[in-house]
Amino acid sequence: MIKIVNTIKEMQSYSNSVHREGKTVGFVPTMGYLHEGHLSLVKASKSKSDITIVSIFVNPTQFGPNEDFNKYPRDFEKDKSLLEEEGVDIIFYPDNKEIYPEHFQTYVEVTEIQKKHEGEFRPTHFKGVATIVSILFNAVKPDFAFFGQKDAQQVSLLKQMIRDLKFEINIIVCPIIREESGLAKSSRNIYLSDEEKQKALLLYNSLNMAKQMIEQGERKSSNIIKKMNQNFLAEKKIHLNYIRIVEENTFQETEQLEKGKSYFILIACKIGTTRLIDNLLFSI
Ligand code: AMP
Repeated sequence: MIKIVNTIKEMQSYSNSVHREGKTVGFVPTMGYLHEGHLSLVKASKSKSDITIVSIFVNPTQFGPNEDFNKYPRDFEKDKSLLEEEGVDIIFYPDNKEIYPEHFQTYVEVTEIQKKHEGEFRPTHFKGVATIVSILFNAVKPDFAFFGQKDAQQVSLLKQMIRDLKFEINIIVCPIIREESGLAKSSRNIYLSDEEKQKALLLYNSLNMAKQMIEQGERKSSNIIKKMNQNFLAEKKIHLNYIRIVEENTFQETEQLEKGKSYFILIACKIGTTRLIDNLLFSI
């Protein structure tokens, strides 16, 4: 039977006892409403760690004032049965008061990375992410933590945080899981109408078009981005936030792509009221 833990104290003492037995803890932080993307992280954790802990917490501090915190989809019973099927050991399922009690006032900021790209459109988002992940790390005390490449800038930010704050935790990044159509799986896809879902394919299709250009020898980011932008011009229902090509580790924008290096193409847009992100990692 899967065990549900609601308090930090119980979570910490469980993790301490696992470590005393010489076993490793793998951790998958989520906001619930689980799909195959999340479950791929769970599978990776199960194959690498003795004990797998999944947290479900819709973290208010990573949502902006006009974002979807209140309507973010939640279905704990379904999540629980999916995780039970995967053979997860523990669900850490705290409430808001457990994480952010009265007088809470300590936040974690990764000052440079948090400002770029997603940070331009969601200025307080990464402060909330860095803070909650730090709290969860201190509660769960994992050896390995599993994150999706879907949120590539988040991974880069958390790796920096781990280095700077000296957390003794290995981050493992898992590939993007997509629908058959190519649309990246996301809990937020439930907001999309069938028509919007169809339009959302433009994200993946334009990433693939960019990939082809690179395979055919294009090395200037501005040329690639210009072509991708053209795809979106005709599509009035998609409001593009940005397309950027950045160096894999620093997330710095790069004009001239160089041999031996890896880059992300990042894309973010709004379709109706739903914000979607996607990316492609490539090496030259
Ligand atoms: P969330 O519940 O949206 O906070 O996501 C929890 C974790 O699942 C994060 O590390 C995400 O990057 C990861 N994730 C979300 N969607 C996908 C996907 N389509 N493929 C792989 N990982 C994903």
